[in-house]
Amino acid sequence: GLKCGIVGLPNVGKSTLFNAISSAKAEAANFPFCTIEPNVGVVTVPDNRLQVLESLVNPQKVVPTVIEFVDIAGLVKGASRGEGLGNKFLANIREVDAIIHVIRCFEDPNVVHVAGSVDPVFDKEVIDTELQLKDLESVDKKILRLEKVAKSGDAKARKAMESLQKFREALKAGQNARAVDADEDDLEAIRDIHLLTIKPVLYVANVDEESIQTGNKHVDQLKMEVGKEHAEVIMLCAALEAQIAEFDDEEEKQMFLGEYGLEESGLNRLIGAAYKLLNLITYFTAGVQEVRAWTIRKGWKAPAAAGVIHTDFEKGFIKAEVIKLKDYEQFKTEAICRENGKIAVEGKEYVVCDGDIMHFRFNV
Ligand code: GDP
Repeated sequence: GLKCGIVGLPNVGKSTLFNAISSAKAEAANFPFCTIEPNVGVVTVPDNRLQVLESLVNPQKVVPTVIEFVDIAGLVKGASRGEGLGNKFLANIREVDAIIHVIRCFEDPNVVHVAGSVDPVFDKEVIDTELQLKDLESVDKKILRLEKVAKSGDAKARKAMESLQKFREALKAGQNARAVDADEDDLEAIRDIHLLTIKPVLYVANVDEESIQTGNKHVDQLKMEVGKEHAEVIMLCAALEAQIAEFDDEEEKQMFLGEYGLEESGLNRLIGAAYKLLNLITYFTAGVQEVRAWTIRKGWKAPAAAGVIHTDFEKGFIKAEVIKLKDYEQFKTEAICRENGKIAVEGKEYVVCDGDIMHFRFNV
């Protein structure tokens, strides 16, 4: 599954947000892999198209797609030198697909700030610096490994050294690896060292209830800073999210949101933004037993998409039958779609689109 790691300084609201995620967790019954660790929360990705398909197909069950959130607490100044439990947490970050960086934008005299005062730009820098130092270490190690080969005249190693130097310069200048204008060769040179600061990032501005509609000066400062790296800031109130997640009844939840002038929970906005950030799209399978959403990356071809269901589907892929959701909505059943020529038969080169309803044919 897809994993987002939640990072941030102590006392910024990570656990509060993570608790909200955990209580909004996906219905356990639907997910066979539910022996998960305490610091992992699995949430369903809300998608109205599933309800559309459900009403058309009347399946026995509907299975949404999910995202995993991992609470990576304990990142402090000095983590890259192994202070606190630094190295363990940095190792955890290596395993995630995207980073959710929570930043404190709420004032509360009762909650101690590790650096003395609320200062989102400073906080962001502290975390960034730790990750950059760790990356610098990884880059330096690889440079050391390659140096001899490069000096002996190996062209490929020399090219890789150039790429590594490019990242080294940026990291030393306090930039994240993702800010480097990297070409395919550059990316190839660092692929095996799994840099932390190249992972896509989303910033969460954790504000108090009072600021949830208006924002505040801390959020403004953060947005200005983050704007430089073209990343997104999601503003939410973690304490409020924890309450929102408690509602089972959808109507009651909407009423509660309404009281704060909100249309959607921050968590849902976060899920949506993470999906977009990771360049993900959804395709569906629709049968009487199950209507189900599947997550793939934009640009994947049909066999790779089939492989998400089962590796055998990919290995033995023959063809795919594809219905567009709007056609399914118009003609109501697969049979009528077929009569009207609305089922396309696609081969190995077909690039799956968001919202496609797929039926795979394969050899076993
Ligand atoms: P963590 O160390 O980053 O995991 O932070 P916690 O989630 O434990 O939060 C630290 C303290 O800040 C706790 O006392 C929370 O109740 C408080 N807190 C977290 N989010 C909010 C918020 O949105 N508003 C306010 N006022 N306090 C919050």
